[in-house]
Amino acid sequence: MTAPCIVWFRHDLRLADHAALTAAVDRGGPVICLYILDQDGAGTWARGGASLWRLHHSLLSLQTRLLDKGQRLILRKGSAEAILSEIISETGAEALYWGRDYEPYAISRDTDLKAHFKDQGLDVQSFCTRLLFEPWTIATQAGDPYKVYSPFWRACLASDEPAAPLPTPHTIPAPECWPQSDTLTDWHLLPTRPNWAQDFDPETTGEDWAQSRLRTFLDTRVSDYKDKRDLPAAEVTSGLSAALHFGEISPRQIWHKTQAAIDKGEAPAKPAQKFLSELGWREFSYHLLYHFPTLPSENFRYDFNLFPWRDSTEDLKRWQLGQTGYPLVDAGMRQLWQTGEMHNRVRMVVASFLTKHLMLHWRHGEDWFWDTLVDADLANNAASWQWVAGSGADAAPYFRIFNPFTQGEKFDAQGQYVRQWVPELSGLPNTKIHRPWEASASELGNAGITLGSTYPHPMVDHMTARDRALEAYEILKSKREKKEPAD
Ligand SMILES: Cc1cc2nc3c(=O)[nH]c(=O)nc-3n(C[C@H](O)[C@H](O)[C@H](O)COP(=O)(O)OP(=O)(O)OC[C@H]3O[C@@H](n4cnc5c(N)ncnc54)[C@H](O)[C@@H]3O)c2cc1C
Repeated sequence: MTAPCIVWFRHDLRLADHAALTAAVDRGGPVICLYILDQDGAGTWARGGASLWRLHHSLLSLQTRLLDKGQRLILRKGSAEAILSEIISETGAEALYWGRDYEPYAISRDTDLKAHFKDQGLDVQSFCTRLLFEPWTIATQAGDPYKVYSPFWRACLASDEPAAPLPTPHTIPAPECWPQSDTLTDWHLLPTRPNWAQDFDPETTGEDWAQSRLRTFLDTRVSDYKDKRDLPAAEVTSGLSAALHFGEISPRQIWHKTQAAIDKGEAPAKPAQKFLSELGWREFSYHLLYHFPTLPSENFRYDFNLFPWRDSTEDLKRWQLGQTGYPLVDAGMRQLWQTGEMHNRVRMVVASFLTKHLMLHWRHGEDWFWDTLVDADLANNAASWQWVAGSGADAAPYFRIFNPFTQGEKFDAQGQYVRQWVPELSGLPNTKIHRPWEASASELGNAGITLGSTYPHPMVDHMTARDRALEAYEILKSKREKKEPAD
C-alpha cells in the first residue's frame, strides 16, 4: 500500500484549487491534512490577536469541509520541523506537500525543511496556491524586479494567463490510523476576558462563504465598484481580503470567475477590470516582499532613514483609540477596534494622519494594524503603510497629505460612516459632521456635544501639522541632496 502523504495547510485553508492537495490525491495513497500553529517560528510577525480570532473560524470551517469528505484536520502547535518529524515517524509518511508562502521567515524555514526531509528520502514538493503570478516569473526587460505598479501589472497581464482553478477532489483517502491532534479549543485563539471580539463577524468565514460572496459581488456590487469603491458607507467592495489572506478563496478562482462574468456579459468590463487591478496591487505587494524582504521593517527608500519622526506614546494612543478629534480618522480607528475591519479609503486617511499630521513612524501603524486587522497580511500591510508614508516603492509622494475633513466631506458626504462609528456626533448637520469645531454653540448644544468633553478638540491643527510635515520633508530632501553627489 502507498505510504501516506502529508498536506501541510498554511495560507490556503480550502479544498478547491489547492494544488498541493490535488497532487497528494493524484499520487494515490492516504492523505494526512495538517495545520501547524507555530507562533514562535514567525518571530516578530507571529499572528496578532484579531488574526488569531479569524484563524480559529477559518480552521473550524476547514475542519467541517474535511469531515464531509470523511477526512480530518490534524492540529498541532509548536516548531514546524519538530512536528513534521513527529508526524512522519508516527505515520510512516513518505511525501510532504505544501502551498508556497512568501514571508521571509517562511521562505528560509521552508528552504531548510525541504532540504532536511529530502535528505531523509521523502518526496517534498511545494506548489503555487496563494498568488496569480509567482514573484520570480515577472521581471523587467533587464531581469530586475518591478518597483512601480503600473508596468508590473501590465507585465502580468501580458504574461500567460493564470491556470484554471482546480476542482475540489471527489475523495481524499484517509489514513488507517489518525495521528494525534489538538482540539481548536485547546489553542484558546478566541479572546475571553475581555472578549474584545464580541462584535467581530464569524459568519464571513470559510470556503463556502467566500464563494457565495464572490458570486454576490459579481452579480450585484461590481457594477458600482469603479465609481463607489472609495465610499466607506457604500459597501460595494468585495470584502474578500481576509478570505484571501487565509486562502479560503484563491486569486485564480477570483480571476477566472470575474473574467467569465465579463465574457458572458454578466459583469460590466471596466469596473470588473478595476476590481482585478486591485488584486494586482496584492500581487505587487507580494512581488515587493519577495524581492525586498526587509519591506515590513525598513524604509524601502533608504533616504527616509533620515526623516525626523516624532516620538509620542500619548499621541499614538489617541490615534489608536479614535480620539484624535477628526471624525473620519476616529470613525476608522473605532471601526477597526470594534470589528477588525476598515475600509481602504479610510485606511489611507488614518495612515496619512499618523505619519504626516502626527509624524509618527509608519511602523507604529503597521504594528497596530497587524494586531487589530482580521485581514492582517504581511505583504499588503507593509507595502500599503510604506506607500502612504511616502517611503515605499511607487509610493504616494510625502507631500500628498490627506486632509482628514475634506476627505470626509468628499467620501462620506452624508456623514453615514461617521455617524455609525462616532455616534456622539450623530446629531450634527452634514455640513459640520466632519468639522465639529466649526459648529455653532446652538448646533453643538442641539446635538448634545461639548467639545473637549463629549468629543475631543482636534489634537493638532490641520494647517500647522501639515506645514510641520512639509518642513520635515524639506529637511529630509536637503540632507539627501547633501549626501548625494551631483552627477
Ligand atoms: C495602511 C494600509 C494597510 C493595509 N493593510 C492591509 C492588510 O493588512 N491586509 C490586506 O489584505 N489589505 C491591506 N490593505 C489594502 C486594502 O485596504 C484592503 O485589501 C481592502 O480594504 C480590503 O477590502 P476588500 O476585500 O473589500 O477589497 P476590494 O476592493 O474588493 O479588493 C479586492 C482584493 O484586492 C486586494 N487589495 C485591494 N486593495 C489593495 C491594496 N491597496 N493593496 C494590496 N491589496 C489590495 C485585497 O486582497 C482585496 O480583498 C491596507 C491598506 C492600507 C492603506
